[in-house]
Order: sequence, then C-alpha cells, then structure tokens
Amino acid sequence: MPAGVVLRSLRLGPFGHEKVTGKEGFMRTEIVQLPSGASVTLRKISMKEENHLTGAIRSKRRKQNKVLVDVVDACCLGFEETGPYTWARKGNKVDWQKMLNGDFIAAMIGLRKLSYREGVNYTVDVKCTNRACNNRFQHTVNLDKDLFYQQLPQESFDKLMEDEPFTVEIQGKKVHFKLNYVADETFQEKLEKKFPGRGMSTLFRSRISKIEGVKPRDWMNWLDGETEGKKKGPYEGLDSDDAEDLRLAFFKVDCGVDTEVEAECPRGSCGEVFTFELPFAGMLSPGRASDEKRRRRLKAQEEPDEDIDLETQEEESETPEADSDSSSED
Ligand SMILES: [Zn+2]
Repeated sequence: MPAGVVLRSLRLGPFGHEKVTGKEGFMRTEIVQLPSGASVTLRKISMKEENHLTGAIRSKRRKQNKVLVDVVDACCLGFEETGPYTWARKGNKVDWQKMLNGDFIAAMIGLRKLSYREGVNYTVDVKCTNRACNNRFQHTVNLDKDLFYQQLPQESFDKLMEDEPFTVEIQGKKVHFKLNYVADETFQEKLEKKFPGRGMSTLFRSRISKIEGVKPRDWMNWLDGETEGKKKGPYEGLDSDDAEDLRLAFFKVDCGVDTEVEAECPRGSCGEVFTFELPFAGMLSPGRASDEKRRRRLKAQEEPDEDIDLETQEEESETPEADSDSSSED
C-alpha cells in the first residue's frame, strides 16, 4: 500500500467495495473469500503490475507462476479473516508461499474480477482434440459459473488448527501428508531436478512428510514402485491403484478450484466436446480490447438507455493457449 493511504471502514459486506482514500486518491478494494475459510483484502491491479504481467505471458511456466504470485502479493492489503492459518494475523501481510494453493487460485480469480470490467469472463485459445479437425477457436469461461470451488472440509480446517497430520494407509503403511501449498511447486521443481523423469513420484514426494516403516532415503523408490534391479528397495512399492488411492486421499481433504473446463468445437461438421485445463498465464491480464469494443463502450456511455451488451457481442482474447503443442515449457 502506498505511503499516506488511509484505510477507511466503508466496507459493504463480503463482496462489497471499500474506498481507500489518501494522498494517492482512491483505489477500489474488495474482500475476497477463499476456499479455506480465510479472506483477504485485494486492491485493483495497477499499470505497474500490468506491465510486469505483459512480459511474463510468453515466458516459461516457472516465471509465469512467480509473476502471478508477485502480482497477487502486490495487490493484497492483508488478511481479513485468518481461516485455518495459525501463523496469520488479521490485517497483516499474507505470505503466499505458506497459503494453500486453492486459496491462491481463488485469490487470483478474485483479483481478475475486481480489476477488469468483464473480468468474470476469461477467454482462451483452444484447439479441438478431434485429430481430424484440429480447429483452433476461442472459448470463454465464466469464472463464477463454469468452475467448481471446493471448500476446505471442516475436519481439515480443524486438523490445520491443531497441527495434526493428514494420513492414509497405502500398502499397509501409514502415509503422512500435507495439503497442497503454493510453496510446493518450487519444492517439486527441485525434486524434479534431483530425480529427472520421475514426475508423478516427485509430485507425491512433495506432499509426503512421513511413511511409517520406510526410511526417508527409500521414499522415492517406494513411490516409484521399485522392487527390483539396482534400485531395489527393501519395501513393496506403489502400484497404479495405490497411486490413485493416494491422489484420492490428497483430493478428499483439500480445498481448491477445479480448473478443468469443457468446451465444444464450434465447427458445424465436428461438434467435439472435450475438456482442457484452464491456463493461468493470462488470468491477470486484461486481454486485447479492440477499437471496435471501445467504440461500443463509448456508445454505451453516450446512450445509457440502450441495452448494449458488451460481454456477448465480442469476446476478448487473452492469447494463452490451452492445447498441449503450444506449451510454454519449451
Ligand atoms: Zn473440432
């Protein structure tokens, strides 16, 4: 928050707007509820952050994620409710690395909706998965209606408050794990470097804090299901059903935003319905507003009685692509 800005208590309820006044004028802020039960106060994205984001859209995923966390952090004025975070204090700065990933995604979506007039709609480029078609088209996701928000179960909330571990029994062994935090991504990247080509096992490893009866140095082999050869471990490893049980155990107790969305190919001869993972790269960017759109907006301002629907006449393009062959990892 810039120096000299005074927070006034003009809050209009959980999704209302506060006017923050001071030397710099005012900024629009909003209290955003997060799926863990915590809530944070966010202010609109400014040009400074928008500039920061522009460069990041086409960069590598690691940098994109870092920029998204930086921007949410810059726009976050602090905790309103601390939810299950025992380290947090109302009004204090949010340490996003220590936040649940589901909370971060919800905050990012909240920030988008707060910052841009038609932010609830997010348009991405997708490619039809029908190999005979491969049509590229734009698909608009309504971030309120098309995504499923999973609240943190009360039992999980209580466990976090009491600092109790989450456990599941796999292969007769009790596995202790933690929920998915923003910092896990960095940890998982480190593990991927250390154990190249063992993606799923490193993902599991990043969440596990203890496997009863298995020494920490054998965890990766246990997760890999390595029971033979040079890397032979003294324990029975995971098979694919066990891995699914572990995923299910992680999923059941966590909160989050289901970012898998459905699209239908608009090409008449195709009509393929498929799902894709919503890309976050352009989530905090305004998208390209064309002059045509600006003309309509001006017209709407001049003739407020006319019902001009800005949202449906033209879609914005945010340009991140959801199809696999345009991966930003290369
Ligand atoms: Zn198609």
